[in-house]
Parts: sequence; structure tokens; C-alpha cells
Amino acid sequence: MASVVLGIDIGGTNIEYGLITKEGENMYSSFMKTEEIESIQQLAENLKAEITPILKKEKLKLHGIGIGSPKGNYLTGCIEFAVNLPWKGVVEINSIFEEVFGVSTILTNDANAAAYGEKMYGVAQDMRNFMVITLGTGIGTGFFMNGQLQHGQHGNAGELGHISNDPLGRECNCGKLGCLERYASATGIALSAREKIEFYKGSSQLSKIAPSEITAKNITAAAKKGDPLALELFDDTSRILGNALANITTLLDLEAFVFAGGLANAKRILTEPTKRYMDENLMEDFKSKVQIVCSGLLSENSAIFGAAALYWNEKN
Ligand SMILES: [Zn+2]
Repeated sequence: MASVVLGIDIGGTNIEYGLITKEGENMYSSFMKTEEIESIQQLAENLKAEITPILKKEKLKLHGIGIGSPKGNYLTGCIEFAVNLPWKGVVEINSIFEEVFGVSTILTNDANAAAYGEKMYGVAQDMRNFMVITLGTGIGTGFFMNGQLQHGQHGNAGELGHISNDPLGRECNCGKLGCLERYASATGIALSAREKIEFYKGSSQLSKIAPSEITAKNITAAAKKGDPLALELFDDTSRILGNALANITTLLDLEAFVFAGGLANAKRILTEPTKRYMDENLMEDFKSKVQIVCSGLLSENSAIFGAAALYWNEKN
């Protein structure tokens, strides 16, 4: 009977999950809508009702559970004040899952889980000092130093999305103004498009879309066809992101940044200008030493694999 870990990625829109073997094979995966889940108790019970017959049918043994969530705290086993999730305040995770499933559970934030996924199964397998940056609704960051995932003193390390890009800038869900994720995430580039399109004189296929309907996906598709406005938006976004990554490089001296999440589907349209702007903002001894690559798990959900891998490595 093969053993599996239930890897769960809790997101603002969907909760995705899979049954992952130690070798990284996904035996079953599905998702639920986050807004339909009223409590963690309900989430655990719904998942148990769905997974139990599959384990039986496929002759799999549930070994444990690994969960990645925004503001998931590895040290406390709680989701703490997640702005993009329906459950407010400090929410118990580990103790509820352990009671419902009867197996041990490990929690970390979603970006740390994605970083773990890249380290175990993705492009960072041979790297020791790197940062995975998930460019989606917001920006999530998980990073390894000397081969170890970094949690920080309070479990909060790696909140790159909320460093300041402009102290008087766009309002952020966290309550501050001008956070990086309001500019350089999938949401951020869409906000930039809505601001810019009003004053744009040239011709762009984005002009055919109502400004409030423009998404990172539209902008990426247009940029891939050479649309000048879409390319300009990627250039603006890359400049902001490249400046931020130059600061991180100066502080941490990493070997690579790995981009994941929706905006990373733009691949070289995003990575090449970002690298150029980053290098322009680095001191001579840092220049050209740091790679920017896209996730090797882009078509899959690296956080599901990462959450499961974290369990396999740390609880097994
Ligand atoms: Zn913020």
C-alpha cells in the first residue's frame, strides 16, 4: 500500500489539493471554492469525506497533511490575520486537521510551500540560496539560505509584497499605501493598465476591453503578440520589480529568483527586462550574478507539492 501526503494550497479564490507520494507523484487532485467554506472545521470535514473513498479505492495510506496558506504560520499552526481569506483573525489549522483526520499536520505560508516545491521537485533542486516569488493576486515570497527555508523569528519572513514601492501610492489590502504587490503582481499590472489606458494615444488591442475588465492574462496575451501598450506595461512593472530585487540581492546575495504565479506565464517578457533593471541597480560586484528564472512547476501547483514535501521532509 503506497503512502501519500495530502498537500493543500489555500488561496483567496480556490483551495487546491492533491495526494502526493514521497517521490512527488500526484495521485489525485481537485479543488474547492474558498468562499464556499465557512470554517476550517468544515474544510477538514469536506476534505475527509472526499478523500476517504479515494484512499480506499486506490489502496493508498494517508501518512500526513501539509498545508500552505497565506499567513500560515509554521511555528504556531495557525493562519494569522490573512487579508485575502474569509476566515478572520487567528484561525487554528493544525489541531483541527489532526483531530478530523487522525494524522499529523504541518502548516506554512503558501509562498514558503511554493519555495519548498521548487527545491524538491522544480528548478531550484541544486540551489542553496534562492527566493521564489509568486506573482498572483498579491506577491508571495519564500526563500532558502544555505539550503534551509527561512521562517524568521516570528514565522513572518519573506513578505516582499508589502515592502514599500511608493509611500503615497496605491492602497493595499494590508492597510498601508504603495506596497510592491499593488504594482508588480497580476493585480498590480492590471491596475497600471487601467490607469494608463485612459491617456494612451497609440493603438492597442487592450483598448477594446472595458478598463475594469483588463486582467494580467489579457495583458500577457497582448504582449506576446507585440502589442505596444502591453509591452510598455510589462516594462513599467519590470522596472519596479527589478529595483526591488536589486535591493533584495544587495541584502541577501542570492543565486536566483524564481518567478511563479499567473504573471510568470509571461516568461521572458517579464524576466528579461526585470533582470536588466535589477542589474542596472546593483553595485558592480553583484551585477550579472543573479539569475531570474520561471518556475518549473508553472502548469502544476508548486504549493501543493511543496506543502506535501515539507511534510515528507520535516515530519517523516
Ligand atoms: Zn501591503
